[in-house]
Amino acid sequence: MGIHRAELRAAGETTGQTHRRLCVRVAVGAGVVLCLFVSVVPRAQAQRTALKPGWNMFTPQQDIDLGKKVALDAEKQLPLCNDPKVDAYLTQLGLRLAAKLPTGGVAYPFEFHCVNDKAINAFALPGGYVFVNRGAIEAADNEAQIAGVMAHELSHVALRHGTNHALRGEGAEGVIGRARGGLGDATGGARLTELSAFAAGGVLLRYSRTAESEADTLGTQVLYDAGYDPRALAQFFVKLEAEMKGKNPPEFFSDHPSPEHRVERVDQEISKLGGVPPSAKLDSREFEWIKREVLALPVVKKPAPGAPAAPAAPAPPSAHFASYQASSYTLQYPENWKKYPDKDGIGVSFAPEGGVLDDGSGHSALAYGFIVSVTQAKVDSNDSNALENATQQVVRVMQQSNPNMKIVRQSERVRLNGRPGLSTYLSNDSPAGGSETDWLLTVMRPEGILSFICVAPQSAYGNYDKTFSSILDTVRFSK
Ligand SMILES: [Zn+2]
Repeated sequence: MGIHRAELRAAGETTGQTHRRLCVRVAVGAGVVLCLFVSVVPRAQAQRTALKPGWNMFTPQQDIDLGKKVALDAEKQLPLCNDPKVDAYLTQLGLRLAAKLPTGGVAYPFEFHCVNDKAINAFALPGGYVFVNRGAIEAADNEAQIAGVMAHELSHVALRHGTNHALRGEGAEGVIGRARGGLGDATGGARLTELSAFAAGGVLLRYSRTAESEADTLGTQVLYDAGYDPRALAQFFVKLEAEMKGKNPPEFFSDHPSPEHRVERVDQEISKLGGVPPSAKLDSREFEWIKREVLALPVVKKPAPGAPAAPAAPAPPSAHFASYQASSYTLQYPENWKKYPDKDGIGVSFAPEGGVLDDGSGHSALAYGFIVSVTQAKVDSNDSNALENATQQVVRVMQQSNPNMKIVRQSERVRLNGRPGLSTYLSNDSPAGGSETDWLLTVMRPEGILSFICVAPQSAYGNYDKTFSSILDTVRFSK
């Protein structure tokens, strides 16, 4: 190769610019362009430890392309929190931290997602795709601590540890082969999809102790620059280590091995930065609110190791809709779903191919789809809580055949085709394995309580949310 880092750095320093991008065509494969971002430290910041990405065969754009591919797969495979408020909070906090990252002029497309997993963990894919487990939010004592975990993850992105490490670590050949394939070569791309990009991407997340130290140091600088108490980062990791004594270590440490003298190193960096500023922020009311929101999210059961693989998920719902007419209402549904009308002329189910499964006892159960049914409820229609009372009866009827069904979000008043309705979220065991989310909408009609039930496994619910809302928007009552 004939290129040494020292020479590149020396070349950058003579320019006097803050960041200098140096690209060199090296004779690897089909002419890979190697770029290094060389930072020249301004005098005012000379005290802080200068960190920059190590040798890397990927370009930053390839980090982004690879990370995006793996992130899309991760979003499909992981149970996401699917809570817009939590995602918005993580995004707003994450972007505030990312603004303090030295990225050498690369515009990373930062994205932040909440994962509905109680394990205390977080990870960032190359290119800036950050996933934070609910468990990490629940374990953090304050906003500065969760900001510390995120600053640590973002530091891995800016220092490009994922692809840098993938070159050195065990099995690197395979990852690079698959990643390269995924970035252009059609055959390799297909193979990556089959293998699951997310599983293959696991190698991108296993860091060395040196990378951990660097991420701690840069993370501490980012926390400091964002106005947080920079001690929070190490405090959170110390707390995790204390909790793991005598128990299984948190998942976080299998990808992020604890470097030696973690706290001492962070403390050294803080003194280089000039100590903890008196105005350093520790917590916010917003964080406390988000933490309560996260604690209230339904828990997703993890499949037991060795459990049979879940049946293949159905094809995504079509954006084209077909019409359905019942005796007292009309609606539209995705045209690639089948309809299963009840004999009463009112109830009906709609499900994609593969959406109706055996529930394990020889009965068909709907795992993905939409159900309309009518229930005769005993209510006084003059009662101002008639719809609430009727909805409780509907839920009890459903619970008789679904003993593990639970209300996860209390009923809220909504309107359906202009009529007053109640929206209730429930969880249940999914015939596809794991939990499912059931979104129930109830409306009082002359023929009884009409229930519209949207069903999908919790891990896939985010892929159906919009379709369910679209179906409900098309409901028209005949009078
Ligand atoms: Zn780490």
